[in-house]
Amino acid sequence: MRIQELKRRLQEAGAGPLHEHRVLRLWSHALPRNSGRRLPESFFPASLLAALPSIEADLAALARIHSVHPGADGSERLLVALADGQTVESVLLPRDGLCVSSQVGCAVGCQFCMTGREGLLRQLGSAEIVAQVALARQRRPVRKVVFMGMGEPAHNLDNVIEAIDLLGTAGDIGHKNLVFSTVGDPRAFERLKQGRVKPALALSLHTTRADLRRKLLPRAPDLTPEELVDEAERYARATGYPIQYQWTLLEGINDGEDEIEGIVRLLSGKYCVLNMIPFNSVDGTDFTRPSFERCKQIARTLLDRRILTKLRYSAGQDVDGGCGQLRARATRTPQT
Ligand code: SF4
Repeated sequence: MRIQELKRRLQEAGAGPLHEHRVLRLWSHALPRNSGRRLPESFFPASLLAALPSIEADLAALARIHSVHPGADGSERLLVALADGQTVESVLLPRDGLCVSSQVGCAVGCQFCMTGREGLLRQLGSAEIVAQVALARQRRPVRKVVFMGMGEPAHNLDNVIEAIDLLGTAGDIGHKNLVFSTVGDPRAFERLKQGRVKPALALSLHTTRADLRRKLLPRAPDLTPEELVDEAERYARATGYPIQYQWTLLEGINDGEDEIEGIVRLLSGKYCVLNMIPFNSVDGTDFTRPSFERCKQIARTLLDRRILTKLRYSAGQDVDGGCGQLRARATRTPQT
């Protein structure tokens, strides 16, 4: 279901703008049922009250939590089952964050990612994206939503933008706490600037070498790292939020001195933060993560060279924490 369609149903049932906002707000705050009864009856017209049970039942049926996998770091990985039996992953992050999926599978095919292995299976509807937030809010408060789960949000732009608009308005999430993550699609740079809710941008860089990037991210748009950084910098200046560059650290691939020099050359003076994420092992790849000491040394060197760098570990690594691994395991294991 698209949010547009939900709005149309509400309007057909007699909802005015305030009623519509109220229902969307309650839904995105994890109250898919009985929203009418939580309000004085006089607030909603009788026709809307009559229609709400069926609308709410449809919203509740969009997604359910299939299984919960707590991590030692305070995160919780959720395997979310959709109405057609497909599954996606959401991750409750420490400090009230939530990572959501935007597609089942992904067409980009990053070599170090489990999700990229199966290709794109289908897009998520905007309502399915918001449903992940509503489900997570049944467990904890959510004040930040990052679109870094399964899928490339730029390949499902209409649905993701619709979800961002709802979360940034009725969903009460600060606009800079909505983080759109992309491998660098020019359509995303353009469209995001035009929305009334402008999210922060995370850009998966991973290397400063164009040839290596083509190998690691085989179906990402063919822009050079320089072109990507130029586009991203324009977005940062337009919105006032720093770009969050993402860099999965792969031993012997992108952890050398040449890359450190490349990063300094590309990012010096840019409005950004560089998140370095040591690779989390994925079955069937030859990649390994650099040693903890080497990761710290890279981050320290970059900080000394005045690149704001954070060393981060992906949440819930102890529970098959890389994107797509829970789903892959659930797909291999027959459900009971
Ligand atoms: Fe897609 Fe992201 Fe995985 Fe790359 S890392 S294949 S963009 S889900």
